[in-house]
Order: sequence, then structure tokens, then C-alpha cells
Amino acid sequence: MTMSDLTCNNERCNKKFNIKLRKKKHGVSVIEHFFFCPHCKTRYSSHVTDQEIRKRQRDMRKYREELNQVAKDWTAGKCFGEVYDEKITFIGQKERELKALVDNLKAKIASK
Ligand SMILES: [Zn+2]
Repeated sequence: MTMSDLTCNNERCNKKFNIKLRKKKHGVSVIEHFFFCPHCKTRYSSHVTDQEIRKRQRDMRKYREELNQVAKDWTAGKCFGEVYDEKITFIGQKERELKALVDNLKAKIASK
């Protein structure tokens, strides 16, 4: 992970700091990436994944490669534009599902 500047959004702090990403396991499969503001110790959850989410993230990479291929085929006149549109719709749907899973998991962890 690269270090980047962030301004703490705790209004009593508002200081700039470098992100130092940490990793914590929750149970067997949930991994949370998070960091602290070094000034006020506000905790920021950067992202969380579990087995299902990691599998879906791998799938998303595969879908995007397939989309690239379809785009090439379409440009080369090997398939119809509808095939490309279908693929875009499919990927959009999968992205929404994945986002919902991530949001759910984040909420679950935050309520602990
Ligand atoms: Zn702070």
C-alpha cells in the first residue's frame, strides 16, 4: 500500500496524517483493512472482505477481461453491439451485488 495524505475528519482534530494501513482478521475469513489518525486515534475502516467478497472480486476481474474481449470482437465486426450491452448490464448488476455485500459486512463489523 502506498502512503497518502489524509485530513482527519474528526472536527476537533482536522490534522493531516499519513495513512498506515493495518490488517485485522475477524473470525476465520473476514479481513478488515483500517487505519488510525495518529493525533486523535479516530479509526477509519478502509475496506473489508470475506471469502465470498474475495471470490466475487476475482470474478469481476474475469468479467472485465471478457468485456475487453467482447469490445475487440465488436470493433472487429465479429459480434453485435447487443452482446457488448448485455455484458455491460451484467457487470453493472454484479458490481451492485458486490457493493451491497461489502456495505453489509462493513456495517456488521462497525456494530461490533
Ligand atoms: Zn485526528
